Amino acid sequence: MEPSDTRKLPLISVVVPVFREATEIRGFLAAVRNQLKESGAGYELVVVDDGSPDESWAAITAEAQSDPNLRALRLSRNFGKESALCAGLEVARGDAVIVMDADGQHPPTLIPELLRQWQLSGADIVEAVKVRRGRESISSKLGALLFYELLNKLSGFQFKGASDFKLMNRKAVNAWLQMPERNVFFRGMTVWMGFKTVQVPFEVGPRSAGQSAWSAIKRLKLALVGITAFSSFPLHFVTLAGGIFLIVSVVLGVQTVYLKLAGRAVSGFATVILLELVIGSLLMISLGVIGEYLARIYEEVKCRPRYVVMESINPDDRR
Ligand code: UDP
Ligand code: MG
Repeated sequence: MEPSDTRKLPLISVVVPVFREATEIRGFLAAVRNQLKESGAGYELVVVDDGSPDESWAAITAEAQSDPNLRALRLSRNFGKESALCAGLEVARGDAVIVMDADGQHPPTLIPELLRQWQLSGADIVEAVKVRRGRESISSKLGALLFYELLNKLSGFQFKGASDFKLMNRKAVNAWLQMPERNVFFRGMTVWMGFKTVQVPFEVGPRSAGQSAWSAIKRLKLALVGITAFSSFPLHFVTLAGGIFLIVSVVLGVQTVYLKLAGRAVSGFATVILLELVIGSLLMISLGVIGEYLARIYEEVKCRPRYVVMESINPDDRR
């Protein structure tokens, strides 16, 4: 225990999830280290190798030889970026924790600004916000736009422009760690916590090398996690649609009985087919919606760990 009257320098942790970044990771870590050293604070780099099939772990090990402040975890397989982030946040010890991507799209040169804002504003979270989304395919831009609009409407939280590049103080990290869910949506969960947040704009640069590891399917899955985790509106929609159909069916029912009694119940074949089709597809979509939530609940009740660590460098004493 240090005596409490000497003012300690804050310890800054930088958490970096890594997947297939073998060629880039060393340069990136060097750049981050430079920024942190200049800031004068104590620092640690927490690198989480998310089961990269390439030489990423070898590069991290080599880097650790020259830097005692580097700590690393190697997950046993690819658990996905969100799980890798969980692993990193759980072991990070800093008074402030910066989370960033290893591919150079989150510029290390922004780190001093994040630290400055943290110290000046006294905010719990300093969020780097994308002012431009960088070079992306039109489909992924459109997808992101649609997703954020939808999520915003459904959940009532403002997620637009949110990125995974942010600084959280100890209070925010501890609060975040209290969320035990398996369906992790980092961006959403930090917004949900509702701490005092300040924003720092930045431009997303091009990837320094390699390709984004996020396929369209992976993005869609994350979008589904985001929506199901932050809104139960789709479930209410099922009920709403059922209600509307009940009203329509009463009206149609009365009409049918009336025509029957009046002895005029002959035509109406098209109506039957259409109703059959509409109700059939609505039922199936409804089942699907319920299934999505059921799947999430199933994943949660299994209570499996969010990730499995295979190897580590300078692991936390607590583990
Ligand atoms: N990443 C990860 N696990 C994955 C996919 C990505 O840890 O399964 C890491 C990757 O190494 C990078 C960050 O997450 O540091 C962002 O990934 P990427 O650049 O591929 O995503 P994008 O910028 O296209 O959203
Ligand atoms: Mg990227």
